[in-house]
Amino acid sequence: MFPQPAEPVFTKTRRGTPVIQVGAYRFNLWAGSRGSRARWTCVKATTLHCKAILVTIDNEIVKTKPHNH
Ligand SMILES: [Zn+2]
Repeated sequence: MFPQPAEPVFTKTRRGTPVIQVGAYRFNLWAGSRGSRARWTCVKATTLHCKAILVTIDNEIVKTKPHNH
């Protein structure tokens, strides 16, 4: 059996910050996001210099970049 691709889960941290959980990876909403188009950065962007991002329009993922971890 092949593993299923991880379904993105739109959720919030305990502080109320929007995040997307995709399998083991978590993305924070980029502070500069405006309107229906949003950019999300990997939570490891700072610690691991991960360049992975998600771009969503109306909560649908339209673009992804791979993780380095
Ligand atoms: Zn990452």
